[in-house]
Amino acid sequence: MSFKLKLNNRFTEALPADPVPENYRRQVEQACFSWVFPKKTSNPKVLHVSPEMLAELGISEEAANSLEFLKMVSGDSVLPNSKPFAMCYGGHQFGHWAGQLGDGRAINLGEVESQGKHWMLQLKGAGPTPYSRSADGLAVLRSSIREYLCSEAMYHLGVPTTRALSLVLTGDQVLRDVMYDGHPEYEKGAIVCRVSPTFLRFGNYEIFAARNDVETLKTLVDFTIKHHFPELDKPSKETYLKFFETVAKRSLDLVMHWQRVGFVHGVLNTDNMSILGLTIDYGPYGWLEGYDHGWTPNTTDREFKRYRFGAQPSIVHWNLFQLANALYPLVEEAEGFEQILNDFKKQYQQAFHHMMKAKLGLFSEDETTSELINELENVLHLSETDMTIFFRLLGDVEKSKAQNGLEVVKKAFYAQDEISGNIKNRWEAWFQSYTLLLQKETLSDMERKTKMNKTNPKYVLRNYMAQLAIDAADKEDYGLLDELFTLLKKPYDEQPEYEKWFAKRPDWARHKVGCSMLSCSS
Ligand code: AMP
Ligand code: MG
Repeated sequence: MSFKLKLNNRFTEALPADPVPENYRRQVEQACFSWVFPKKTSNPKVLHVSPEMLAELGISEEAANSLEFLKMVSGDSVLPNSKPFAMCYGGHQFGHWAGQLGDGRAINLGEVESQGKHWMLQLKGAGPTPYSRSADGLAVLRSSIREYLCSEAMYHLGVPTTRALSLVLTGDQVLRDVMYDGHPEYEKGAIVCRVSPTFLRFGNYEIFAARNDVETLKTLVDFTIKHHFPELDKPSKETYLKFFETVAKRSLDLVMHWQRVGFVHGVLNTDNMSILGLTIDYGPYGWLEGYDHGWTPNTTDREFKRYRFGAQPSIVHWNLFQLANALYPLVEEAEGFEQILNDFKKQYQQAFHHMMKAKLGLFSEDETTSELINELENVLHLSETDMTIFFRLLGDVEKSKAQNGLEVVKKAFYAQDEISGNIKNRWEAWFQSYTLLLQKETLSDMERKTKMNKTNPKYVLRNYMAQLAIDAADKEDYGLLDELFTLLKKPYDEQPEYEKWFAKRPDWARHKVGCSMLSCSS
């Protein structure tokens, strides 16, 4: 059984190409991309495919078992109309302009048109490109499993994200120094076929502004608007501002989702900010276990914690500021950008309030609601409290029983004996105020719980869960990979057969590499 995919090449046909055909590392000027072929793998094997993504692309499950499919997703051969390329982009990394970065280990195969949608297919880890700088263009199984599982899980959570079609083992060995401490080891190489309407990032625009190449900048922005923001008018100064405003709105929506589900991206550099407002580039990301604004999973960011959970909204704002700078030459007036950036801050406050109310099951407004939310954030920080479990169990609180609140959420506390004295008093007072507000709601306890359960997931990809799947896969046991993939398709459902995953992080995972400590090495 073979399959037919109609690939088109809108990006490469409309935008300037790097004239150099050879694949060596270099600065690429006045071009949006370079032509490059994936590297041959030595013994490729498909470990998993996403049935949902197959269906989106119109590929049957039978066809996904074909040699042709394996060849496509391992990069061993390209489809007839595929003209693979790597994109040129730059970016601000950890607050500083880093110059040219680009697709150093991502190769775009082309765009599939299916059911009225356009999907770019991209192989991550398929070999070096002109943008690989000093690295090898490859990816290891560990990080590929994390990207594969998490991007599909995010989709099912309703969080905007790039998707994943397949996870392939290459059969090649890849050298990595996981903790950057001079202990490199060989790991299994892997490739994820990522899928997204486009993989354009803020950095794709920044690079041309940084090089004063306004012409290419304009060409790229006009292309982006035409194909990815068709609701906007023909190019003009007003349209460019509208474009920026739309990107700001989508980015706000995105970061609100992250705060809602407790996702920490880990490396929110401007080259990791999708122009479509999607979660992109799953590296040292993590899920909050204890609710902690100061937490970041990324050990590379341990010192300043720039990309910690609580800072994500202001970092997204900072990144938008960089995008505004990049788009400025097309508008030549700062005022419009400033207005949008100022509005972002106000809109964030409103959106946060709204989101927290939904998590709490409060649907009407009361003068004490803001105070209740503030105090909750304070009390949650007093002792280690599991975010996912806390909010999920909160749906079980009965409005007539204020004194029961603490008992209902008990399972969320990592050290239950800490909930005494002042901490206990604060919690009890909080539950008093909370139940008073619940009593003002018209919904019954049951109706409220049903609504809350659609906002507060029961199952997320806790870091240790991904690590267990990685450890098993390393021993060629892919059962857990499949189990987690299946579990995370219905994150808001009870799924009693998977109740064991509705649990706090076990103690062994507290300080383990891959569970609480992740580096950028991937
Ligand atoms: P990241 O921190 O993963 O967002 O990557 C930052 C930049 O480094 C991007 O330009 C990547 O393409 C590039 N990069 C990361 N890992 C590799 C690798 N193994 N080989 C080549 N380029 C890489
Ligand atoms: Mg990146």
